[in-house]
Amino acid sequence: MTFADLPSSLKAALAERNYESATPVQAAVLQPEALGRDLVVSAQTGSGKTVAFGLAMAGELLDASGAVRGAPSPLALVIAPTRELALQVSRELAWLYRGAGARIATCVGGMNPSQERKVLRAGATIVVGTPGRLRDHRERGALDLSALAAVVLDEADEMLDMGFREELEEILDATPETRRTLLFSATMPRPIEALARRYQHDALRIAT
Ligand code: AMP
Repeated sequence: MTFADLPSSLKAALAERNYESATPVQAAVLQPEALGRDLVVSAQTGSGKTVAFGLAMAGELLDASGAVRGAPSPLALVIAPTRELALQVSRELAWLYRGAGARIATCVGGMNPSQERKVLRAGATIVVGTPGRLRDHRERGALDLSALAAVVLDEADEMLDMGFREELEEILDATPETRRTLLFSATMPRPIEALARRYQHDALRIAT
């Protein structure tokens, strides 16, 4: 699949940004063999990895007309190590999915949690956040993980280095078995392999 084969709402968003062709990691996650599969992706910052997982999730988020599926609770969750990265991911997914009608909630440490709860209550399609804050929202009943079709771990190696393993496991254990899990990491040390083994099924490995 190339950009030309994407749903029209995404094609329009990419065209508006003048993104004419897929970067290698984007082409890799859109290949037919990767569609619907769990993925372990070696990707560095600057490779276009954010748009890559954004596009990879399209099958889980959009209906045949290219609009976001109607759902009472979030369909996709992106977990990132830092507030800065989570905000950056939110901004990228916002322009990519605006035309499709996605609503994005960003949940990060240092922001007002009651404001975030309000956005979650109003109904978010995609939730982006840092591990600790996402866990807090879940424990307080503000974040419903029961309808998730896709979970992305962005910079998974950083998250483990920062000591977020427990938070990640608590969140992942609360998501449906049927979810798709996309693990993005710059490096693949042993703890990442362990996380992949525990939470992924028949994952396709992508190194670009
Ligand atoms: P990232 O690796 O996600 O940090 O992305 C690096 C930068 O490349 C971001 O500013 C993206 O918006 C930009 N980018 C992503 N995909 C493309 C593309 N296909 N063509 C041009 N720029 C892109």
